[in-house]
Amino acid sequence: MRSLRFIAAEALVSHPSLARDSLDSVAYNLYPLLFKTSYLLEQAEVTRAVLRCWPLEEFRLAMLLEPSTDHPADLRDRACRTCLEACMQGLSDHVLQSGSHRLRLADLTGIRDVQEQRCPCGRVLGRWGRTQLLARTCCELQAQTCVAGHPVEVLADLFVTNGNFEAVVQALRPAVPAPLQVRCLSFRADSLSPGQLLLVLGLAEPAALRKLEVVHNVRLHAGHVLQLLAQVGFPQLASLTLPTKAFDVPPSYAPAPEGQDSLLASIAWELSRMTQLTELNVAFSSLTGKIRTLLGPLRTPLRVLDLANCHLNHADMAFLADCTHATHLEVLDLSGHSLVHLYPSTFFRLLRQAAQTLRVLTLEDCSITDSHVGMMILGLSPCTQLQEFKFLGNPLSASALRRLFAALCELPKLQRVEFPVPKDCYPEGIVYPQDEMTASKFDQQKYNVIAEELHLLLLQAGREDIQASTPLFGSFDPDIQETSNELGVFLLQAFKNALENFSKALRQIE
Ligand SMILES: [Zn+2]
Repeated sequence: MRSLRFIAAEALVSHPSLARDSLDSVAYNLYPLLFKTSYLLEQAEVTRAVLRCWPLEEFRLAMLLEPSTDHPADLRDRACRTCLEACMQGLSDHVLQSGSHRLRLADLTGIRDVQEQRCPCGRVLGRWGRTQLLARTCCELQAQTCVAGHPVEVLADLFVTNGNFEAVVQALRPAVPAPLQVRCLSFRADSLSPGQLLLVLGLAEPAALRKLEVVHNVRLHAGHVLQLLAQVGFPQLASLTLPTKAFDVPPSYAPAPEGQDSLLASIAWELSRMTQLTELNVAFSSLTGKIRTLLGPLRTPLRVLDLANCHLNHADMAFLADCTHATHLEVLDLSGHSLVHLYPSTFFRLLRQAAQTLRVLTLEDCSITDSHVGMMILGLSPCTQLQEFKFLGNPLSASALRRLFAALCELPKLQRVEFPVPKDCYPEGIVYPQDEMTASKFDQQKYNVIAEELHLLLLQAGREDIQASTPLFGSFDPDIQETSNELGVFLLQAFKNALENFSKALRQIE
């Protein structure tokens, strides 16, 4: 319910020029309310003016937008371009105005990027766009000379690619003391060279960084990763994501005797110095026989572990099942491994260990067949905390899925299931794991009938709270959505370079 105060604020904000002119006589403790109201009604002019006159020491965007006693709406998932641009303009006005200001901290983190934008303008400003906007504003302010008063510390979640690299570097490395000082809490990097990554991370106050995601088009090898961890240093890091093949040895590196991977051991030692590290995502890295080397030295138990498509072997699975991390795991991805077929006892031991904590389990392309369903049901039944179970790409028939669904209904906290297109919907003799092309060629009508049956099964069990779907081409990813053009160009360029190198090599052979 809206409070009387909120209704009054709505009335004022709906008249932007009146609101602007009245701000001087508004009590300080009403500013947060006026801000949320103007954000809700998308009155950009008022949002900007409220920021310009902000009378408090702190401005924390996410806290201002969360549900409050005055208005129950949660606006943190409104990455509204109109409002966020107004916020930045207001912040810029604030530090440019003459005289001293009280504002010391502007926390711009905590905005959630969602698929469906619910604000009136419907225009989104994603994490990359917000980074660009902040960097541009900082650069513009650096060019102004009329700044008075102390600097404002700005907390931000940065997403840097080649497209906004220059602006971010300039924002983080001002030539003269700047009115806005950016401090980064989480950092995502894509489409950057290793040199660019090292440079920008070095400038982003890595000592305070909590989350680092280096993804897709950043080509790192183990030498780069070690350099990053040893030279830049991230003592507060809680979450680390590395791109594909990040543990491959550099081309110039001489292999050590007896399969010892001293580079990986050095990386693990650097990771073990991070006393807050609880999330490690290293999918698509070749880690056969090396899991003990990587995870053994860590001093904090991991809660999130993504080892999808890492070519794990029996020794790796045995280590995982018995290590200290197992009983703390909340999110686990072991996709791309034939777990039930090759390592049934260690895999189910791992599930038993993690049963009390596991919330999200992903087992895509794990060659789980109808004959494994009985074991899967036994293995999953103690996982009473499980909220999400994703198992796309497994060769399961409709009847096996029905058996599995009946068991999943018994998991009290389950909310989301991603199930594969049943094998029955594909032509005879289809080979798993499927590529994207083969996976998309199935009998849609037959699928619809089976999916309907599965939904009915959930309803009959009183589990309408469970959402079951088959997102064949992946779930919504706001970061990819926002930078897909740049990603495409970067990939094409990489392909072109590879072709050129190939033809150069051919010419040399001739
Ligand atoms: Zn909007």
